[in-house]
Amino acid sequence: MTDPTAAPATDSAATPTFDPHALPPLRDVIARFDLGAKKSLGQNFLLDLNLTGRIARSAGPMKGVTAIEVGPGPGGLTRALLATDAVKVIAIERDRRFIEALQDVVDAAAGRLSIVEADALTVDPEALAPAPRAIVANLPYNVATPLLLGWLARIDSYVSLTLMFQKEVADRLVARPGSKAYGRLSVITQWRSDARVLFNLPPRAFTPPPKVESTVVQLTPRANPEPADWKALEQVTAAAFGQRRKMLRQSLKSLGNAEALLEEVGIAPTARAEEIDVAGFAALARAHRARNPVETS
Ligand code: SAM
Repeated sequence: MTDPTAAPATDSAATPTFDPHALPPLRDVIARFDLGAKKSLGQNFLLDLNLTGRIARSAGPMKGVTAIEVGPGPGGLTRALLATDAVKVIAIERDRRFIEALQDVVDAAAGRLSIVEADALTVDPEALAPAPRAIVANLPYNVATPLLLGWLARIDSYVSLTLMFQKEVADRLVARPGSKAYGRLSVITQWRSDARVLFNLPPRAFTPPPKVESTVVQLTPRANPEPADWKALEQVTAAAFGQRRKMLRQSLKSLGNAEALLEEVGIAPTARAEEIDVAGFAALARAHRARNPVETS
């Protein structure tokens, strides 16, 4: 039984203040631990604490929230997250070199920072952090899309995802029907979340500078997503956008009787994938699933 006189957990103590500037400059940390950037791990660091502060604040109110960061690297964004009201920061880093380098931040964080050495693609953040939880990360671009898809599948478990992507990927996440960037990733993202661009950053904001522009995007769970199952939506969007210039009666042939499927959901057989909105794809996914029930044994 809960003690009715106990204060709510989130109010029991004020979040201690953390000064990101009180620790050695990030350039010194990189030099001291010889942390040359590895391209294979998408390492482009943010060394300007004003910038990392801007990203952390753009995640929104953090009171009572556990922040999950993927790829803390030398810790610029980690420090900024510790300066918010987040109850705790859990940072998942694959490159062992940073674990030792982050120890000063762990010590200064007075129990509010845990570092998990792991490949984020294999980690279930829900098992690491209690709700309410939010992910905030300057993502390694080589694995950004698979990471996002994994989190989107369980988006209701998060208050928000505030993530840095290469601009071209960010454009696809928020693209509307009829635009060149609109595709599978747009449909799946917007089916599960409200996605909005917060701001762009030029290559020179990073060390070393990547070849591309970058964009911070925030995704929050969509209140009433169109009913559809993930697998069926993947199948119809893969077929439709796999041949995006073709009419749907042609591109959806691999799913069976495309004309009947389209007629059932009221979409013209001459329409093309890029004209169909999220609600249209969800309807196609439902009709496709109804014709191809999942086998259970
Ligand atoms: N957060 C730091 C910053 O903003 O300066 C570093 C960001 S850097 C773009 C990406 C970070 O993700 C690097 O520290 C890299 O080692 C880490 N990383 C790359 N692949 C990873 C993976 N699969 N799982 C966890 N971390 C990964």
